[in-house]
Amino acid sequence: MEVAIVFLPIAALTGFALGALVELTALRLPSGQPLLARPACPVCQAPLPRWSWLIPRRCAFCRNFPRHQLLSQTAIAVLLAAAWWRFLADPLQAFRVSLSILFLALIARIDWAHHLIYLVTIIPALLLGLLLTLLASPAAFLAALVGSLAGALLFALFYGLGWLLYRRPALGSGDVLLAASIGALTGWQHLLHALALGMTAAALAAVWLLARRRASRYSYLPYGSYLAGGTILALLLWGPA
Ligand SMILES: [Zn+2]
Repeated sequence: MEVAIVFLPIAALTGFALGALVELTALRLPSGQPLLARPACPVCQAPLPRWSWLIPRRCAFCRNFPRHQLLSQTAIAVLLAAAWWRFLADPLQAFRVSLSILFLALIARIDWAHHLIYLVTIIPALLLGLLLTLLASPAAFLAALVGSLAGALLFALFYGLGWLLYRRPALGSGDVLLAASIGALTGWQHLLHALALGMTAAALAAVWLLARRRASRYSYLPYGSYLAGGTILALLLWGPA
């Protein structure tokens, strides 16, 4: 218990700082700006202090407050604290879940804002999922490998089915790779759990949007964000591959 009292605030603070890095990458990657460019207000483009990427700050000119930045950083702080609370007895597992959460949060954040899934975010998540299991055990590596193949196969199937039903892909090819990295992170044992959680959340969101007439059957839902969110929940519940 005493260990938790020391560890959880450290995990939360680290999460808050790394969450800032996730938010900065999610902002800079789609715009093509260098990561270390001077921060600017997203509304009026006025320059902000250097450290404002780490601590959200109100713009001195247009008074805009970066709510999304604060929200992302807080969410990641809570998630990392949850990961260390859940897997305190096994630091390697807590470390693997934390790293997975950071990559999934980045994928979710970019898909949410830009409806895009970047290979530079998925491929590292996929490799990370596979390589980190080598630190755990050969059985874990095998579970991650089978999980990633199963995820890719399942989504390739959905992709084909979407093509048959709608004459256009209901999913992007990025989703197929995302499913592969989800399988690598959760292992085959919990791949379906992670996907089911994400799909349920996406379905509920779609029903809610349709009920409020805010969307049509063909509207874009940031599906990748829901899948990444479902995976984070699955990792916290059942642990990594
Ligand atoms: Zn401004």
